[in-house]
Amino acid sequence: MTRYIDVSDVRKLVTSIGAEAFITTMADYIRADYLRWNEFEKSARVANHVPGGVIELMPTSDRTLYGFKYVNGHPKNTHVNMLTVMAFGVLAEVDSGFPVLLSEFTIMTALRTAATSALVAKVLARPDARSMALIGNGAQSEFQVLAFRAMLGIDEVRVFDIDPAATDKLIRNLSGFKGLRIVRSANAAEAVRGADIVTTATADKANATILTPQMIEPGMHINAVGGDCPGKTELHADVLKGARVIVEFEPQTRIEGDIQQLPADFPVVELWRVLSGELAGREHAAQVTVFDSVGFALEDFSALRYLRDVADARDIGRQIDLIPKPADPKNLYQFVAAAEVVAEPRFVRLTA
Ligand code: NAD
Repeated sequence: MTRYIDVSDVRKLVTSIGAEAFITTMADYIRADYLRWNEFEKSARVANHVPGGVIELMPTSDRTLYGFKYVNGHPKNTHVNMLTVMAFGVLAEVDSGFPVLLSEFTIMTALRTAATSALVAKVLARPDARSMALIGNGAQSEFQVLAFRAMLGIDEVRVFDIDPAATDKLIRNLSGFKGLRIVRSANAAEAVRGADIVTTATADKANATILTPQMIEPGMHINAVGGDCPGKTELHADVLKGARVIVEFEPQTRIEGDIQQLPADFPVVELWRVLSGELAGREHAAQVTVFDSVGFALEDFSALRYLRDVADARDIGRQIDLIPKPADPKNLYQFVAAAEVVAEPRFVRLTA
């Protein structure tokens, strides 16, 4: 049987464990998998570009498990009351190919993206970073704040969105978190001024310039989440040129990340090399660092692994018949044959 986890199951798990604890443990799973980088089968995700959006498949596997995520990105969806990003995920046994888990992955994607952002910021942001600007206050935004609060101790967040209702919603959702100061800014430049970390999580199928070189201050860490598709970027190219840029899986980020604007030989550092200690993250206090985040299959694999472990431990979700299990594995036909046809097969003689 396959364990099926729906939206209410994820809600149950996250509210009982606590969003911050959930994100922090998930980040440990992601880190552990990045440290096993060479054990994974890796490829850039398969993207189907459609008018106004993209639909993607993101597979990866190690020696025992195979995972994939279906995900879309349609910035125009919010205009018709639909989410920009929607997803589901599957985890299967490599040995047999049997899918052991089928899960909602829209909320899980927001959790894993936030966990990855904070994991990266821990090695790139200045250790004394306490304030963050957050441009784009949509579906991902609260998850980002909670990850940075839990994992880096961020206690002040300056927020801006071109849609004031999105900022209202963020302030409402996070008002109960003690010791967290949310400051509403009049524009992106005001939010960014003096911030230690800048997160951009905007959605627009365009080469936007949410951050321009004049807005960048020495020592800032930029967590660029929304530029994740060809023709969809957030940073002015000169912001990248003046920074140490960390990427997840270089072949994918060259196509999808903000660095798509730069020549193919622009130097970038893959995250696993920094996490393993092979290369430095931040090299000095005044350096500007950028995480050119696009979302890599390995992070979903880790999130699926974590979800399977907590769901198994708490018996959350339900077992479903996703795959037929005939007593005789060569007799798949029994599932579609009418009972009497199987019992008494009839033959028709064909005559010329
Ligand atoms: P969303 O549509 O819910 O929110 C995006 C917000 O950005 C909206 O509130 C919109 O008003 C705002 N916005 C658009 N242009 C802006 C601008 N110029 N200045 C300020 N605000 C602006 O989308 P979401 O689910 O929160 O996702 C945000 C972005 O993150 C999307 O681009 C999505 O594709 C991307 N994303 C990346 C990853 C990753 O792993 N890197 C994962 C999930 C989502």
